[in-house]
Amino acid sequence: APGVAEVRIALTAERSTRRLIAVASGKGGVGKSTLSANLAIALSRAGRRVGLVDADIYGPSQPRLMGVEGTRPTAKDKVLDPVPTPYGVPLLSMGQLVEPGRALAWRGPMAAGALGQLVEADWGAVDTLVLDLPPGTGDVQLTMVQKYRPTGAVIVSTPQDLALIDARRAIDLFEKAGVPIIGLVENMAGYVCPHCGESSDPFGNGGAEAAAAELGIPFLGRVPLTIALRTASDAGKPPAADPGDTVFAPLAARLVAWL
Ligand code: ADP
Repeated sequence: APGVAEVRIALTAERSTRRLIAVASGKGGVGKSTLSANLAIALSRAGRRVGLVDADIYGPSQPRLMGVEGTRPTAKDKVLDPVPTPYGVPLLSMGQLVEPGRALAWRGPMAAGALGQLVEADWGAVDTLVLDLPPGTGDVQLTMVQKYRPTGAVIVSTPQDLALIDARRAIDLFEKAGVPIIGLVENMAGYVCPHCGESSDPFGNGGAEAAAAELGIPFLGRVPLTIALRTASDAGKPPAADPGDTVFAPLAARLVAWL
């Protein structure tokens, strides 16, 4: 059996090799949580050992997205034990720490403290932690970049100009803190009508890719606006878990290459 010193060294080594990927957006409702859940699953299917942290105090939706709504993590010596999900990605969410809707009323320091509990949980063999951040640039994001220094950040935006202007602010926060931007994902890009098959662009087209080029950050790809993605998300069945997934696997492959 390993001695105490050996176990400590093993634990430290485990922690130092763990990659933290922050998923951020300038504003809410652009699909940051949907993308975080599906990216986490796609990364897991690509061979990483992935954990998911839902730090979005304004709308902690990961328990629902990951099919474990209503679950509560247990704790040992005040260290939280992540909740297993049907998709092989353990999860901890701000929403699991408080009654539904309460996290929203937290003051900055409380939210930052809760973030610490989620990140410093017993993640065991997890080598890649995906962090679903709240939208914008508040206390949770600041604590995240200053204290936990993510390995890199993925920025999510819709093709709309306004969402892109907000995304620029989020990018600025990471760049000022020295956190590399892995790239920009354009969500809700292009809609194919399920009835007539015609493709249209409710939020414009190509804006995110052009903005990424202008900002000098990589463009990681686009996720189309589909009714299937919305209904699967509401049902707690992320499409990235489907063997036939062709949307999230390429994004995950780009992330793996970056890591
Ligand atoms: P955020 O985390 O940025 O607030 P969410 O991930 O909660 O955004 O997404 C907001 C809503 O939009 C949800 O109902 C979600 O199911 C839906 N949604 C997100 N991305 C897509 C997409 N590509 N196609 C269809 N619906 C989407």
